[in-house]
Amino acid sequence: MSAPALSLVFHVDINTYYVSCERILDPSLRDQPVVILSNNDGCIIALDSRAKRLGFSMGDPWHRVADAAAARGVAVRSSNYELYGNISQRVMSVLKEFAADFEQYSIDEAFLTIPATPEKAKKLARKIKDDLARRVGVPVCVGVARTKTLAKLANKTAKKIPVLRGVCVWDLLPPQRRESLFATLPASEVWGVGGRSTRKLAALGIVSIGDLARADLTLIRKRFSVVLMRTVLELRGVPALPLEEQRAFKDQLIFSRSFSTPISDETQMRQVLSLYAQKASARLVKAGQVAGIVAAFCSTSLFSEGTQSHPSVQVKLPQATADPVALTRAGHQLLTRADFGVAQYVRAGFLLSGLEQDGAAQVLEPFELAHEKRQVSTLLASIQEKCGQGTIGLGYAGLAEQPAWNMKRQMLSLRGTTHWKELVQVKL
Ligand SMILES: [Mg+2]
Repeated sequence: MSAPALSLVFHVDINTYYVSCERILDPSLRDQPVVILSNNDGCIIALDSRAKRLGFSMGDPWHRVADAAAARGVAVRSSNYELYGNISQRVMSVLKEFAADFEQYSIDEAFLTIPATPEKAKKLARKIKDDLARRVGVPVCVGVARTKTLAKLANKTAKKIPVLRGVCVWDLLPPQRRESLFATLPASEVWGVGGRSTRKLAALGIVSIGDLARADLTLIRKRFSVVLMRTVLELRGVPALPLEEQRAFKDQLIFSRSFSTPISDETQMRQVLSLYAQKASARLVKAGQVAGIVAAFCSTSLFSEGTQSHPSVQVKLPQATADPVALTRAGHQLLTRADFGVAQYVRAGFLLSGLEQDGAAQVLEPFELAHEKRQVSTLLASIQEKCGQGTIGLGYAGLAEQPAWNMKRQMLSLRGTTHWKELVQVKL
């Protein structure tokens, strides 16, 4: 007789995400150590294990390590968020085929809940891994267990132990192996256990994952939180963190970028604010939200010797909206507060708050903005989705050419999955 099916959690995590995306479009990178740089090519924000072994790490300022990287044959790319976002969508749509019970946790991670025996789960996890390699071209590890917390731990185990070949079903590990992992791994390796809790736990003699799993529930709830108590239950195999069907409602949205060259004149700043307002509007539309309060800000570099200036403005809108015209107008109020001609601004952004679900507040007809009635924001968002960002924009943001202050990304790979002009070319 076969074992009964359990409700099992599959945690799927793409290995070295940004680097793996770059390798899809440029297979020559597969045999090289690779590093990815932050906005404006400032510092290393992602790297593969080979680059790590050569001594490079996250956060290394690029100007300091560029020569060493070149000397050691390390390939370098500017971060290409458009590509990473698109690959993420492709991965998630493949994963959704495997389970209706699906939760995307981050750009490169998701949880699926599937009823299966551990043996069946192992085959299925292997199929998920193979499908993603074949259909999207990314390497993943899959951890399977009775709870989310254990599935995350199983995934880490899959990454560390080569014989598992990227798939770890917690219930199929030999009991001695599970015990030794619990005894040797520190509690900080558990999902959601942060630095502060780790120190507080250590003071109570709770050091390893095993210690945490055996900890007294009442003590944990009293001294820490219900959340940590749930984590303890999860380590014991009792599901206590349900799949979040609806992601926690975000109550603010930030859109902020730094420029490749400083801005000191009003016209350029007006362009920046128009463009950023429209990007923020597009994000609101996508999330089905409207904002009641718009804050706009710009700032000079904290490290520059020149004039320091950090003006900001906050505008309460007459009614919550995602309308780009309203957001742009509010943002332009910042222009009267900036020290143009004196200060060299390197960054600007929007912070939208007072967010609510679109349609939650019924607007009385006479108060509706004329352009809002014509659905400008939804129309812009749908055209941009179809034809690519930068194909259409209002006023100053409808720029055909890339303006001078745009981000510096000198080593950007092709956006081969989202731009017709940048398709990968294959020689036969
Ligand atoms: Mg990952």
